[in-house]
This record gives sequence, structure tokens and C-alpha cells, in this order.
Amino acid sequence: MAEQCKEQMFKDWHFHQCSRKAVKDGYCKQHHPDSVKARADAAQAKWDARWAKVDKKKRIAAADAGLFDAVDALFFAQIAKGMITLETETHPDESLNPIWQAYLKRIEEADNA
Ligand SMILES: [Zn+2]
Repeated sequence: MAEQCKEQMFKDWHFHQCSRKAVKDGYCKQHHPDSVKARADAAQAKWDARWAKVDKKKRIAAADAGLFDAVDALFFAQIAKGMITLETETHPDESLNPIWQAYLKRIEEADNA
């Protein structure tokens, strides 16, 4: 006679024993501790990934505060002088190109975050 899964499930305000057939250690496939742990781990990994993204946004924001402040002053001064436009991809002053490229890259990353 096939053993019944020993998991007690709370449903309709009562505990019911799982009606599935026990396949391992007295549990059905879904309620076996290994399966329960695998689902919990998967949920945790998903949660961690979401938090990692939140943390990444915080790190970007912190890094941006310094970079954007420095470049914004330069940026608007140059726009005021008519030296560059919003569409400019390279800075007229080549020595400023690395920071200019970093600025453009950061805007792109912020848009994609
Ligand atoms: Zn079960």
C-alpha cells in the first residue's frame, strides 16, 4: 500500500494531510524537505538579486554625486559659451575627454539601471 505524504497543510481554516503519494522519506515530491529548501533557496536568490540591484543603484548614485557635480559645472559653463551642445559626443578640449566619456557613460548606465 502506497504511503501518503505526511505534510500537514493549512487550508480552509483546517489542517489537512497532503493527499499526494509519499515518494521519499514519507513526503511527496513537492513537500520533501530537499524540495522545500530548493524553493526557499531559489526565492532567496531572487530576493538577493533584487537587493544587489538596489545596492548597485545606491553605489552609482554615490559615485555620481561627485562626478556629476564636477562635470556639471564644466558642462554648463561650456554650453553657456556655446562650445558644446547636448548632442556633443566628444569634448572640444581633448584633455577633458576621459571625464567627458565617463560622464556620458554614467548617464547611459543610469538610463539602463
Ligand atoms: Zn505532500
